[in-house]
Amino acid sequence: MMRRVYLDNNATTPLAPEVFEAMKPYLAEDYGNASSIHWFGQRAKAAIENAREELAHLIHARPAEIVFTSGGTESDNAAIFGIVEAAKRPSKHVVTSNIEHHAVLYASRELEKRGVRVTYIRAGADGVVDPADLERAIEPDTVLITVMHANNELGTIQPLEEIGLMARERDIYFHSDAVQSVGKIPVDVEELGVDLLSLSAHKLNGPKGVGALYVRKGTILKPLLYGGHHERDRRPGTENTAGIVGLGRASALAREGIAEEGARVGVLRDELERAILERVPLSAVNGDRARRLPTTTNIRFDHIEGEGFVIALDLKGVACSTGAACSSGSVEVSHVLSGIGLTPAQARSSIRFSLGRNNTPADVAATLDVLPEVVERLRAVSPHYKSAVASG
Ligand SMILES: *Cc1c(COP(=O)(O)O)cnc(C)c1O
Repeated sequence: MMRRVYLDNNATTPLAPEVFEAMKPYLAEDYGNASSIHWFGQRAKAAIENAREELAHLIHARPAEIVFTSGGTESDNAAIFGIVEAAKRPSKHVVTSNIEHHAVLYASRELEKRGVRVTYIRAGADGVVDPADLERAIEPDTVLITVMHANNELGTIQPLEEIGLMARERDIYFHSDAVQSVGKIPVDVEELGVDLLSLSAHKLNGPKGVGALYVRKGTILKPLLYGGHHERDRRPGTENTAGIVGLGRASALAREGIAEEGARVGVLRDELERAILERVPLSAVNGDRARRLPTTTNIRFDHIEGEGFVIALDLKGVACSTGAACSSGSVEVSHVLSGIGLTPAQARSSIRFSLGRNNTPADVAATLDVLPEVVERLRAVSPHYKSAVASG
């Protein structure tokens, strides 16, 4: 069988075996409804509260500030619509960036349809938002600033501390989509100065379909859904006990080794990147290489068509991506890459390699064994490449 290398951890991560073990009882014998007062219910309730503590600990929040959701997308929507709908103002304005995940971007576009003004500030060519641009965008009726922590395509880390201070001075709520950073780099809701923060279990070796929204104590939020009194009236519906337990265990795992694991995976990423740049002519890294997650590199290979490259690498056993998983299969160019000033051709020739807990030096070696020749082969049949080479 062909050796398979998975370098698409920003799309999703494998479930850690420890997380799977922790979840099992709640898919089998511990099936109680956490709202029930009997023994079965109380066991589920205790497991959920334990998970809440583990997650709170990971992001330096209080357990009562954690709301479990169905994932990152729901958390983003709950934060954005929740704040805007609760704000009692005759006119409302929101500030965000042009490199947000679709869960924030499309929620913002929906706000515009509902009559809310939204300013999308442009990230720099380095893939980082300038707080000064953000400050200039603030208006007297700004009710929310939402800027992501780590970008899912580039890995670039946004200056949340500065934005947080700015928001606090002006009494504006501040939300951050931290789906890509939680569990990979230290995330402290106090240091970052956020009022709301979204995360998702399947991006930190937990299960799919569960996540959380951190909501600072005292934040006035209108819920998305109506029903029972679960999650302190913030999110009704019988809890996904096994999923929540999985998120709790994944949080504890991430916290235990965050510095060591970040350093380990950073070495692998750096070696992969260095060797690619050295061995493949006309390749370059997109975005800032310093202010970045240790897991991610986004590289453009001039005169290569990204989709074809992903397929060719997949045939050689290497899984990577052209960017956001949700836009794979579509011909649209990445709004993140065009948002930082890449031409459509450059954006289409860009590939994201995202590493995680499961990757080893052997994975990097196996990728480097096949990648340069795949690029060469694709360029050999590229009319653009031929004419570019011919014209010198
Ligand atoms: C994956 C991702 C999401 C969506 O999370 P889901 O749990 O898959 O809904 C949101 N934002 C970012 C930055 C992501 O990477």
